[in-house]
Amino acid sequence: MKTWTTSSGLSVSSILSGRSNAYLIGTRTGNILVDTGESGAYRRLSRNINGSAAPGGSLQLLILTHTHYDHCQNAARIKQQENCPILMSRREAKYVQKGYTPLPRGTSLISHMLTLLGNQIGPPQFGYKPFAPDILMEEEYTLEEPGPGVRVISTPGHTIGSISVIVNEEIAIVGDAMFGIFRNSIYPPFADDRREMIRSWYKLLQTRCELFLPGHGRPIGREGVDRQYQKSLRKYGQAALEFS
Ligand SMILES: [Zn+2]
Repeated sequence: MKTWTTSSGLSVSSILSGRSNAYLIGTRTGNILVDTGESGAYRRLSRNINGSAAPGGSLQLLILTHTHYDHCQNAARIKQQENCPILMSRREAKYVQKGYTPLPRGTSLISHMLTLLGNQIGPPQFGYKPFAPDILMEEEYTLEEPGPGVRVISTPGHTIGSISVIVNEEIAIVGDAMFGIFRNSIYPPFADDRREMIRSWYKLLQTRCELFLPGHGRPIGREGVDRQYQKSLRKYGQAALEFS
């Protein structure tokens, strides 16, 4: 289990990896879980939450970077088990009531085909137990308790309600806004709005974060994000991205 510590003393541990990542932020007042993985990983997740070296022990908050099944299939169970509130984007609230979030568009021909197929299969394979979120955020949310030092910003593109967790302006947990599984690219194979996603990379680069922890694969350094952002700027052109 890899753990990073910020200069202000907050810790971020990778407590679930493999198909999907989940992270635990240890603050002075308690722990924050970011994403939950798929249902098959529940036991591992639960064991690592309780066995984590982060101080405080109890789980004070669950943040969902977005509501695809592979990030929130354990959300209802964790909420019940740990008795903790759930924070997510208001833009995806309608999905979690039903327990199904449509799969995002593919960014390549192959991933596009996979999405078409996946959406035909739908909830039986890609659904999750519905749950009631407690905090629905809009553009930005700064945590009072537990905190300080943790804020959440809206980083849409992969989905309309994707959010990222900024820890002490040093580490960003970004969900599927970036992928850490390819050698030379952070470009997600699936995204509902590619231009929005590139604007979100810009937003993330505006933080001073040096380390970006994705929902799938390995950590990404600031250079890798910047390189991909510059490449996308050249591809689309500044104007097309509608930066104000
Ligand atoms: Zn996703």
